[in-house]
Amino acid sequence: MTSANLSVVNAKVVTPNGTLIGGVAATNGRVVAVGSEQNLPDADRTIDAEGNYLIPGFIDPHVHWGLSRYEYDYHEGLAHDFETETRGAVHGGVTTVVNFLLQPDPYGPDMDFFREVGEQNSYIDFAYHAIIHKKPHFEEVETLAEEGIRSFKIFYNWYKHASPELGIEHSDSGRVYRLLDTVADIEGGIVMFHAENEDLAYERRQELKAQGRNDLEAWSESAPNICEAMQIENIAKLTEYTDSSAYIVHMSTGEGVDICRRYQQQGVDINAETLPSFLAHTKEKEELGVWGKISPPLRGEQSKEKLWQGLREGVVDYAGTDHCPHKKPFKEKDEGKFGDIWEAIPGDNNGIEYFLPVMMSEGVNEDRISMERLVEVCAENNAKRWGLYPRKGALVEGADADMVVVDLEQSAVVDDDFYHTMEPRYSSFHGQELTGLPTHTIVGGEVVVEDGELQAEKGGRNYLPRYADGVPTV
Ligand SMILES: [Zn+2]
Repeated sequence: MTSANLSVVNAKVVTPNGTLIGGVAATNGRVVAVGSEQNLPDADRTIDAEGNYLIPGFIDPHVHWGLSRYEYDYHEGLAHDFETETRGAVHGGVTTVVNFLLQPDPYGPDMDFFREVGEQNSYIDFAYHAIIHKKPHFEEVETLAEEGIRSFKIFYNWYKHASPELGIEHSDSGRVYRLLDTVADIEGGIVMFHAENEDLAYERRQELKAQGRNDLEAWSESAPNICEAMQIENIAKLTEYTDSSAYIVHMSTGEGVDICRRYQQQGVDINAETLPSFLAHTKEKEELGVWGKISPPLRGEQSKEKLWQGLREGVVDYAGTDHCPHKKPFKEKDEGKFGDIWEAIPGDNNGIEYFLPVMMSEGVNEDRISMERLVEVCAENNAKRWGLYPRKGALVEGADADMVVVDLEQSAVVDDDFYHTMEPRYSSFHGQELTGLPTHTIVGGEVVVEDGELQAEKGGRNYLPRYADGVPTV
């Protein structure tokens, strides 16, 4: 047997066929062996995992690079955020990212730029979703599919009134119908939905403002659970009618879990993703201030526990972060952490870096989910859904050697030193202690972070076109 470049041994290795005691060997960036230690080839370098878990790197299917563009234009912002935010990703054990493209202009003419900006600035491999909101976007869906973008996000009756800075056009049922119908004919195609009914939320906002409310819970009350429930019902019905595929991003409510389960049982291809914030926080956490203003808003304890149940049962099959790299003064609208809740910009920061630690701390270490199921919803299922499997998302021979050693007993308090993203650093987990941290992050067979120290430089990573030539990327 020829020797490998790298092996990780003395590990609990999580594979699609279960967890085994042993290790993984990698050569030229790919996994060449998975198994017990005596069956692994010798390696130029061997890392002792000290009995800890070795898992495929997390895949974050939901980030918004370029949103720091209030200092930069969008393309400059993408370059900036790819560097700073994927630096945080590797410290947090995330080794692949799918970023939402968002601009008013058509995406097709800029595809060379979108490929190059990531290849030159990212620490990890990356793919794209496109946000479809202006008329020309609807006309380029099939072209984008050929470029490897096969997931299209739409704001269904959302952003009619909010965040005019973003310049996002909402879509009515007619546009949603057209997009679902188009995507139904694309291999691996899927429509991603922000599922909240803004007609109701707008009226509630006016009422709560008139009452003089300015607290985090008021933000939750302004978009009550039925905002999400009403919209998911409509999405499921249109998905069934068009025989298409839908994916609810950042699902926040127990009602959403129940509706998705019902339609899934009827054979409708409706999928759901949730976020660490909804699995860990509730709307009563006033200490989060405007940092806890996310959209959809934080919910109650019952929704939180139902989302965990949905993850365990397979109704909710995906987890991501909705990482929005807003500069802190912009997020707070220069009014500080306890400023105007209505003016503050929605979105949480630094998700990609706290993703794995929160899921370990709140999930595995609290016995809410098994390590094997967690790896499915944070790595394997994301790879499959976005057409990246088996290259990504599993420790199997031939896969990219993207893997993370996780010490379930190691703790850290989320403070300024916890993050490695752009400054100033903050998130809704600031001040909280998390238990279950990555000790080694390996990307393409290269040790990128070891014991908190960055070992690599940015760039040299790959754009992942999805379903190139009609088959998943391999
Ligand atoms: Zn988002």
